[in-house]
Amino acid sequence: MNHFELRDGVLHCEEVPLPRIAEQVGTPVYVYSTATMQRHARVMKTALAALKEPLVAFAVKANPNAAVLATLAAEGLGADVVSGGEYRRARAAGIAADKIVFSGVGKTADEMALALEGGVFQFNVESFPEAEMLSEIAVSMGRIAPVSFRINPDVAAGSHAKISTGAARDKFGISTADVMSAFSRARELPGLDAQGVAVHIGSQLTSLKPLESAFRRLGDLIGELRSAGHRISVADLGGGLGVPYDPDAPLPPSPADYARLVGRIAGGWDLRLVFEPGRLIVGNAGVLLTRVIRIKEGASSPFVIVDAAMNDLMRPSLYDAWHGIEAVVPNDDTMVADIVGPVCETGDTFARARAIDRVEAGELMVIRTAGAYAATMGSTYNSRPLAAEVLVNGSDWAVVRKRQEIEALIDGDIIPPWLGSAPS
Ligand SMILES: *Cc1c(COP(=O)(O)O)cnc(C)c1O
Repeated sequence: MNHFELRDGVLHCEEVPLPRIAEQVGTPVYVYSTATMQRHARVMKTALAALKEPLVAFAVKANPNAAVLATLAAEGLGADVVSGGEYRRARAAGIAADKIVFSGVGKTADEMALALEGGVFQFNVESFPEAEMLSEIAVSMGRIAPVSFRINPDVAAGSHAKISTGAARDKFGISTADVMSAFSRARELPGLDAQGVAVHIGSQLTSLKPLESAFRRLGDLIGELRSAGHRISVADLGGGLGVPYDPDAPLPPSPADYARLVGRIAGGWDLRLVFEPGRLIVGNAGVLLTRVIRIKEGASSPFVIVDAAMNDLMRPSLYDAWHGIEAVVPNDDTMVADIVGPVCETGDTFARARAIDRVEAGELMVIRTAGAYAATMGSTYNSRPLAAEVLVNGSDWAVVRKRQEIEALIDGDIIPPWLGSAPS
């Protein structure tokens, strides 16, 4: 469900016609829908309402724009952060410290100190050396770090290999065999309070089966840990629920299906459950609005060359991801084309031999489901400045990130003294 719909033949975001945004802000531009994000946050919270005080911590890496975070903070969501930068952006957008989970395999000493100083719900610790470092830093600051150990449940998530995180060979978490000793040794660490366990097995999951296996393993471990005298008061079930990209593909499980699974397996655990949805909340709440530069004949089908590229939206080139592509003013005619950007890489291809609305040079198109893992993965490859971002709220809209100026790239480089001053 999202709020990008045709009205009188023109694609709108909520009440705003997309051509108006393109004219005033230029293209490529990301456009996000407040109503869609609110709806997804509420659907998730409603689904989980039967649980005892669940903490829903939005995975900031999916979309760290301050306006997006502030929208979700107003819905009561917390944040799952994976860097000091994300921690600071979450706090700056108004997310309370006691709703922040700090995840990631490579937290540095500075990042640990930042979150200990500012406050945090818990650190999800992914190795024992990390636990030792965190304890040392906490002690030096006179603090106790609340910790869950992230477990690697060794399940196949069934999604793309680059976004599967729960198999033994993946870098994430502590193996189930090592968890008991991690908790016992953590007792000896004066700066830690080991309060729980966490799992996150991957992203864009389209079946509940791997989640069910992971949650069952987590439940078994909680039982074993408690039998050994460890007090377990938190279980973090991670994120990962998929969203529909391709309307012709089977629908991923709904938040309600997911919540029923959680209730069935974890309902009796008698602890606080934490959830870290990212894509589910923002994926379908965004589009990348782009203009056709020109049509070029190809060997089999024409190339539609648009002004967005792989540096703006990396998912197709990185994960072979499928995104819906439509004209903003469709004319009932279709064509089969390769939709590509201007970047000098064959990987700069959004879709191959795709049946799309017929378009001509100068027309606007959208690439759908671009609210998650999209703008945030943008780069300046080919010296293309980062795209602008716009947030729509009913009939209001605002630029929430200005288009980067090329001067920012030029001025960021420094010519060393031995090369003299730059020619002007
Ligand atoms: C990326 C990530 C998430 C969010 O995953 P989604 O598929 O976007 O829900 C949650 N938790 C952790 C630890 C992550 O790395």
